[in-house]
Amino acid sequence: MTTHDTPSPASASMALDIIGTIESCYPDKFGIPRQPGLAPSATAVLRLKAPFDHPDCVRGLEQFSHLWISFIFHQSPERWTPLVRPPRLGGNARVGVFASRSTHRPNRLGLSLVELAGIEYDPAPTLLLRGHDLVDATPVVDIKPYLPWADSVENASAGFAPEPPPQLDVRLSDDCQRTLSERPDGASLGALIRQVLSQDPRPAYRRDKRDDRGYGVRLHDLDVRFHVETDNHGHGHESVIVVDSLVPRT
Ligand code: SAM
Repeated sequence: MTTHDTPSPASASMALDIIGTIESCYPDKFGIPRQPGLAPSATAVLRLKAPFDHPDCVRGLEQFSHLWISFIFHQSPERWTPLVRPPRLGGNARVGVFASRSTHRPNRLGLSLVELAGIEYDPAPTLLLRGHDLVDATPVVDIKPYLPWADSVENASAGFAPEPPPQLDVRLSDDCQRTLSERPDGASLGALIRQVLSQDPRPAYRRDKRDDRGYGVRLHDLDVRFHVETDNHGHGHESVIVVDSLVPRT
């Protein structure tokens, strides 16, 4: 995909260059938190591709702690609808696609604020990212440094999503803890598992009732198997995510 000729204002569309690709701790979409920052331990590598991989392109970027990543929802269909059903509203109520952060949208463009954990040169620069919400192989079309004084607005109103989604408690089985204790990355992986599962990745319609199913979320090289235990008491119910086992992916 290349664009070099600036299109006339009349032309209805433009092509974009892919400047790099994400290598993510999330092999699948299922289980990825709905926004960046919800799982701060999520890691990714952004590999830039020629001609955008010249070290000059990122000169000075290391001075910034956070970046805006503009990317393509490449696993979403091109078709879109004017109204979408945000999971935050239980999948029932509908809002305008431009009033949402839906993955099904015109141009399939996504925007995520991520932490820049470092830059490695071999000699092309590779960006080390944390706290992202991107599936493996996501194509990136731009990178911008985050400017808190310009990019964050105190007391801004955020409609139907005024605060982060509610979190559930996560309990790791003895088997799961044993597996983690045998891994050099056990501590960071344990933190990632808790952060991701506390978002309750199950579909919204499965949440408000007894659910005896087993689930699996793939993180790094593992299939994280879990189920949900729900305690019903006088004034409602409380759900806890129980991680049963960590199965190496084949
Ligand atoms: N922060 C971005 C935004 O606001 O534009 C993304 C928000 S979107 C709700 C986050 C979800 O996008 C993730 O939970 C994951 O399921 C999905 N996702 C991540 N990378 C994707 C990709 N390359 N193609 C399609 N869906 C993707």
